Amino acid sequence: MPVFFSDAFNDVTIHFDTFMKAVALHEHLRAAGLTGLTFGAPRALTVAELCTVHARAYVDAVAVGEPLDLAASNGVDWDPGLLTAAATSSGGVVEAALHALEHGGFAGSLSSGLHHARRGAGAGYCTFNGLALAAFAARRAGAGRVLVLDLDAHCGGGTASLIEGTTGIEQVDVSVSSYDEYRSTEQARLTLSGGAAYLGDVEAAIDAIAAPGSIDLVLYNAGMDAHTEAGGGSRGVSTEVLAAREQMVFGWAASHGLPVAWVPAGGYTWGGLTLDEVCGLHRLTVEAALYHLGLAA
Ligand SMILES: [Zn+2]
Repeated sequence: MPVFFSDAFNDVTIHFDTFMKAVALHEHLRAAGLTGLTFGAPRALTVAELCTVHARAYVDAVAVGEPLDLAASNGVDWDPGLLTAAATSSGGVVEAALHALEHGGFAGSLSSGLHHARRGAGAGYCTFNGLALAAFAARRAGAGRVLVLDLDAHCGGGTASLIEGTTGIEQVDVSVSSYDEYRSTEQARLTLSGGAAYLGDVEAAIDAIAAPGSIDLVLYNAGMDAHTEAGGGSRGVSTEVLAAREQMVFGWAASHGLPVAWVPAGGYTWGGLTLDEVCGLHRLTVEAALYHLGLAA
């Protein structure tokens, strides 16, 4: 299973989980000795590619740091390396998506910082919306139906705003926090859940997806921040619950023969976990994907 990663994801001086985690997760996965993973470095998206989703004025602000309130609208201090780091991070999502679309099976990118970003500004630690960039790139590459499955703890209001009114892209979103909540529609279906109901609500949301066999690509935002201790989580959402969730998602995709491009998304140390423990939660996604590809026990 190809996994896209670049040191450029972290090529900023900002000391923040979203940027630090990719490097730690890359080292964690290599140290875990999982068989069946091949790492590849993505290229940074060009300004023109970023502008397929984002406003030119916002991309330019991220590039030069002015106006500063727009350049830092993701909620993190602006850094001269931010454009390259964010453009390479989203480049990883796009390459994972195009790889899965072309070859089938599953692919991943160790990217963060995605689903809150808007067309004209960042939000919630997200600079560019990699999910939307990948969804539109997949459509341009011939995918007729793209599903964004967002199981991060927080709502994917940025992605919902970016796909609204388009054809061929839909979102299924189960969140345990109302942050970035949006009005649920047929195109972007939001469930607020938590606690003991969580796993059942995820299953119900997936079961409700009509005609899954007609989906050409699933973009899976596999946040681990619903975990009780992962920062922003819900009481009762344990490591075992999240392991079962990952088996459910990849089992469902495999049973319908659906290509999946996954990204780790949320999962933070401020809830009490160490960075290595957060990486251990994200490893559940990788292990479930490998299992359903027949590459792991
Ligand atoms: Zn989150």
